[in-house]
Amino acid sequence: MHFYDSLIEEVNTLAAPLITSAFSADKGKAWRDAGCNQVVLQRESVCELSGTGFNLVTSSAVEDGIFIAGDDLDRIKGEHKFARVCIIQIDDEQDEQKAYNLIRKIEYVKYHCFPDGYMIRTSSNAQREAVRVAGKAVDSGMDFNAVGNLLIEKYKEIPSVRGVKIIFITVPQADFDSLSRIAEKGDAITKTLNHIVNTVNFDCDTCNLKAICDEVEGMRELHFGSNSRNGM
Ligand code: SF4
Repeated sequence: MHFYDSLIEEVNTLAAPLITSAFSADKGKAWRDAGCNQVVLQRESVCELSGTGFNLVTSSAVEDGIFIAGDDLDRIKGEHKFARVCIIQIDDEQDEQKAYNLIRKIEYVKYHCFPDGYMIRTSSNAQREAVRVAGKAVDSGMDFNAVGNLLIEKYKEIPSVRGVKIIFITVPQADFDSLSRIAEKGDAITKTLNHIVNTVNFDCDTCNLKAICDEVEGMRELHFGSNSRNGM
């Protein structure tokens, strides 16, 4: 699975010069999981992060790690722009239905991960991510490294996940517009995969996903390959 590789390259190029701290994954540093949805009231919060949060999967090697570009949670107050990108190595799944299901399963992880005092707020746009951070949690040691380690632990509960690199970006001069564009493109690739798995329309000229298939190597072959595998 290499459909998202060019986007991964873009993220790495964009983030690399901004990285201020890097950590190896360490289970022992994972933040507490509250186990269920929790509410952090505005009066309890020290900051509100808002921006983009998305995953990009690949079958190329990814080493577990947490990277921070900009201030960590103990230095952020009030409203702040932010992005979280998870680059995730998965087993090379040849069956497109299984690959699509795996990508969806990975996406759902963020809805089942509840770092105590770090309230991830969902939106109808799956790439938008807003987080309300409790002052008490930061005072007792919560930082991006701890939250990242918990997320890595959760992703790795999925047997096909081999490696997870998480980048938290808070530096104001980061190109957040480009990150949003990359997130949208990643989502368009996933939607195209869904179409390939579920649709028997093979007329590229009338297909509204043509732009993606024109750009992402292997997409068109995947659709027509799945056609012949299905005996159509
Ligand atoms: S291969 Fe053609 S029909 Fe299939 S998703 Fe791509 S553009 Fe659409």
